[in-house]
Amino acid sequence: MDSGDIMLRVMDRERMVRISAARTTALVEEARVRQGTSPTASAALGRALTAAVMMGLDLKDDESITLRINGGGPLGTVLAVAESDGTVRGYVGNPGVDLPEIYRGKLNVGGAVGTEGFLEVIRDMRLRSPFIGRVPLQSGEIAEDLAYYFTLSEQIPSLVSLGVLIAPGGKVEGAGGLFVQAMPGAGDELLRVLEEWVLEAGPISSLVKWDLVRLVETIMGDIPFDILDKREVYFRCRCSPDKVSSIVTALSDEDIQVALASQGCLEIYCNFCGEVYTFGEDETRQLREGAGQR
Ligand code: ZN
Repeated sequence: MDSGDIMLRVMDRERMVRISAARTTALVEEARVRQGTSPTASAALGRALTAAVMMGLDLKDDESITLRINGGGPLGTVLAVAESDGTVRGYVGNPGVDLPEIYRGKLNVGGAVGTEGFLEVIRDMRLRSPFIGRVPLQSGEIAEDLAYYFTLSEQIPSLVSLGVLIAPGGKVEGAGGLFVQAMPGAGDELLRVLEEWVLEAGPISSLVKWDLVRLVETIMGDIPFDILDKREVYFRCRCSPDKVSSIVTALSDEDIQVALASQGCLEIYCNFCGEVYTFGEDETRQLREGAGQR
């Protein structure tokens, strides 16, 4: 099904600047519904999911990237994992936490995330040991923190804009992101001009209703560019009955007894997508006996 969520990466012909843009309204709304997030939590999670899925453009087959933000604020950890195929999943520690708006329409994401901690990027390259980059949080607003990460940790001066627009009632009305990144050799002047155009264009959460190519054309002005990549993006979890069954076989006898005695069945909840897997008493026993024979 076409959710309308898409991301795009372009570069100018001289390969001095790279722009990535994404519209993620449907996937952030799916995360909100699955996790039952408050408006502030939806905004924080939505920004992280958007950033992660966009960073996924750099991944090769089978790699994944995890964005983990823990600022000691009331939301707890904000975590998003993106795969190379344009899918992303994630959660916040305390999805019900909501803070008063800073002003009307301006959610207090920075206050909810906190600044006493780090933004970490973990790139899992399967066969090799993972790459982990880590910077102290600047504002907890996520976009600013990520710009700091790109500049400091990856030496790519970047403008990062991430936006989630929440409608009255909590539904996600618009979500998206924009990265403008200077390649080695790019002059400060070029970035400065692009920054002006980005600022002029307005908040990203309202821009995402645009056609993304038109958005990039507006930012690039008369600079010729090539589209390097364009793909649909989705919220998708990697959990499955099989994977959860292997968790059931790995639990201790004691944990199983406690769960069965109190609920009459075993319930396993997936943090990433909110799915609940239920195993009856007989099924649980069969799974564990089957595992014991292997
Ligand atoms: Zn799941």
